Parts: sequence; structure tokens; C-alpha cells
Amino acid sequence: MLAPVRRAGIRQFVRSITTKPDLSKPELLKTQSYVNGQWVNAKSGATFTVDNPATSEPIGTVPEMSVEELQEAISAAKEAFKDFRKVSNRERSNMLRRWSQLLAENQEDLAKILTVENGKPLAEARGEIGSCIANFDWFAEEAPRIYGDTIPSWNTSNRMHTIKQPVGVCGIITPWNFPASMISRKVGAAIAAGCTTVIKPAGATPYSALAMAELAEKAGIPKGVVNVLTASENVKAFGKEICENPLISKVTFTGSTGVGKVLMSQAATGMKKVSFELGGNAPFIVFNDADVDAAVTGAVASKFRGSGQTCICANRFYVHESVYDEFAQKLTEKVNAMKVGNGLENGVNQGPLTNPESVDKVHRHVSDALDKGGKLLTGGKKLTDVGKNFYAPTVVANVDSSMAVTCEETFGPLAALIKFSTEDEVIELANRAEVGLAGYFYSKDVSRINRVSEALEVGMVGVNTGLITEAALPFGGVKQSGFGREGSKYGLDDYLSIKTIVTSI
Ligand code: ADP
Repeated sequence: MLAPVRRAGIRQFVRSITTKPDLSKPELLKTQSYVNGQWVNAKSGATFTVDNPATSEPIGTVPEMSVEELQEAISAAKEAFKDFRKVSNRERSNMLRRWSQLLAENQEDLAKILTVENGKPLAEARGEIGSCIANFDWFAEEAPRIYGDTIPSWNTSNRMHTIKQPVGVCGIITPWNFPASMISRKVGAAIAAGCTTVIKPAGATPYSALAMAELAEKAGIPKGVVNVLTASENVKAFGKEICENPLISKVTFTGSTGVGKVLMSQAATGMKKVSFELGGNAPFIVFNDADVDAAVTGAVASKFRGSGQTCICANRFYVHESVYDEFAQKLTEKVNAMKVGNGLENGVNQGPLTNPESVDKVHRHVSDALDKGGKLLTGGKKLTDVGKNFYAPTVVANVDSSMAVTCEETFGPLAALIKFSTEDEVIELANRAEVGLAGYFYSKDVSRINRVSEALEVGMVGVNTGLITEAALPFGGVKQSGFGREGSKYGLDDYLSIKTIVTSI
């Protein structure tokens, strides 16, 4: 490992050669898929390599499962559903609690696995495992409260009520930016509802999913209820099979809007229940009456978590002309103090991006903005000395609507600052996006807070905060950010069907 160095007077960065996690329980780093309670290789013997994005060196290999093996897993999940749907709500709740406890006991190992495959700093990875624990606890609490209704009839000889039943086998496809928590939000709800699952984690980050499956087994979750199949080359064929296989009743996907549209059209062939949590392009508005220091803190939290690779990251910073210079200067100072490097290193708060294509996309957005009159305040370059996947945290001022960064999600560490004058103007600009996942604004004016919260076309609003997720809150978007809500008292709805029962007495 090389010593930390200062570069270009900007910020510290660290080049590191630590690729594999140093675990107290090495058996948590699984190298097989988990199907019907068995750890299996692909029958073909095929594998694919998973790299650590910080070092671009291999962590190891996992099986390249085939579509036939996926079909077998789906059949096993269907078989398991016959018994699992009859397990009492309280017992399913207990299973989730045991799973949550095992996550808590192994939090440090799980965080290290997450950091080596995803790149995020260890502190963030610990937080992500914490959110998995919270999700499982939440759904453990929800499982015994799946109530129906008693409904009065106009016909005095009828008695009417509803019950909620599990939909069946759920196909779960998750992305690499939250390799553990995206699974916990979906599988936690599915188990609480009484469904069984077939999970396809992102090829770039399969290890967190496999480690969670190992703990599911230890938690006593019956075989066939949680299946995790790894695939990289076969990812499109897997998506199609999950969407079209008649034994699957519901498909849930978190990822890009483009892939979501493909999956939705495939799922239409069997009229499956679907929920999608897709891309965002979050506006972050700083009004003239904002606490600018608080806004800068919120901006850093929202923009640079996961090196800008979260779907609720602020992407467009609209700053009122009267506080624009102050905000730009204070944000740049905070960004300059960031430490970039391998997320396993102490003090690193900016890890790598997931792959060189992600780095190229950020650079394309920066170059496009600068070509069209943007002003670089800091960053703006690939950090090839640190590794192939690193990009300097960047602030660009003088951004306007002609630039790609305002209409496409950057998914990287670029804060783009746009000056505005009036509330009406900024609402119109904020709502121009085709997507609508999260939005943020800073203001102390209570009337404005209500007005703007209601006017923003997004599923989630942060007012005077850049951090808006917790298990108790409904998470999801509007417009092309998808539909369905995860977490919260609504999080089970997508995994349940309402049955109406009319009894004539
Ligand atoms: P991102 O752009 O954030 O990488 P993607 O939507 O491409 O997001 O990927 C999210 C998840 O979707 C990953 O698990 C990936 O393997 C999977 N995926 C990508 N393309 C397809 C597809 N055509 N069908 C099914 N799953 C897909």
C-alpha cells in the first residue's frame, strides 16, 4: 500500500492494493449460488470473475448459472410456496428477526464484503448493513399485522370481508449500488407476506447477496424460500425468464429506467404484478432564505454518498442568485477536503465508481458542461493514479439547461450548480425531468416549504435535509422513476393480493 499523498493542492487520495476482505468469518464470502437450500456451482462449471472496483483486481469467481438452472430454482420456489404460505405470520416474523440478528452479529464482515465488491467507504457499508437490519426488523413487525376488512353490504343476508394473501413466487432483480439493502427491502417484504423468492443480484456485486443467503439459512428460513442465482453473461436471458416464467407471480426491480421498461414489457406477457424503483435526477434547491451552511452539509450528504451513485442523489443544484456565490464557495471547500481512495482505508470518504464506463460518463458530463460555458470550481478529472475507476469529486458552476448533466442522471461525483431568480422558475426547471424519484430544498419559510413540497413532481422530498431514507418511510418514485413503494406500511402491498369473500347467510 502506498502512503497517502496530497495531489494538486486539492485533496488527499490513497492508492491501495487491498483487494480481498479480511473477515473474522471467511465462510461468509460464498463462491456458489444458493438454490433450494443447497450451495451449487453451475452444472456447466462456468464462472465469472468479480473485481474490486478500488484495485481492479479479482476478489474471486461465482457461478454463471444457466436459464435452465434458473427455471429449476423457480420451480423449487413454487414448491416451497405451498408450505411457506401456511406458516403463521408470527413465525415468519420470527424468521426475519433471527435473520436481522445474524446480520447484526456479522455486521463488520458484511460491511467489508460490501466495500470490496462495491467500493463504498466502510462507514457507508456499515450503514447499509444497518439499513438491512432495520428493514428486516420493520417487516418482522409488519408481518403479524396483515389485516383484512369487514365490509357492510346493502344486502342484509350477505356478510362480506377481505383477506390479504401472498402473491406467490417473487422474482427480485437488484443493482450494484446498494448490493445488500435493495435485497433486504424486497425479500423482507416478500417473507413477511408469505411469498418465496428467486433473487438475481447484479453481476458486479453478488457477494453481499450470497452472504445474506448464508445467514438466511442459519436463521432457519426454509429451503426454497430464498434462492440467489448469480449470472453475468446471462443477465438479459435471466431477466426475460423471470418476467415470463408462468410460475413467477411478481417481479420487482431496482435499476435503470431503460432496463425497467424492458422488464415491464416482458412481464406484460403474463400480466404479472410488477414494481419498479428506477432512475432519478434529483433537484436540490437552495432558496434565498435558506441556512446556507446547512444546505452545504445536506448537499454533500445527498450528492456524494456512494460517490454519487445512489438513485436519490442530488443531480441538479438550483441555487438562488443571492446565495449562489456563498454556496458555491462553501461547497467547493467541503469537496476539497474529501479523501478519495479504497473504501477499506481509514478516513476515506469517496470510493471508486463501479467501472471505467461510469467514470467516462461523469467525465462526459463535465466536459459537455465546460464546453458550453460551465466553470470548473474543483475536480474535473479522472484520478488514474489512484485506480481505473476513480474520478475527482467535482463542482461545476454556471450550468444551464443546455447541458447534459441537467437532463441525464450523472451517477457520479459531480455537483452541477445552476443559478435561479424566482420560485416559479425553479419549480418549472426542477419538474422538467422525465423522472421523479427524490427532490430536496432548503428554506425557512413555512408557506414556501408547503408550497414547494407539494409542487415538486417526485415521490420523496427532503426539506432542509439531504438524507431521507429509513425503513418506516415509503420509498419510490413517480413519472419514469417507476411505481410501487418499498418499506413503510405500504411496503407489503406489492407482495399481497386482496381477496374479497362474500358469504350469504
Ligand atoms: P445500472 O444502470 O444502475 O447498472 P441496470 O438497470 O443496468 O442499472 O442494472 C441493474 C440490474 O439489472 C443489475 O442486476 C443488472 O444485472 C440487471 N440487468 C441489466 N440489464 C438487464 C436486462 N436486460 N434484463 C434483466 N436484468 C438486467
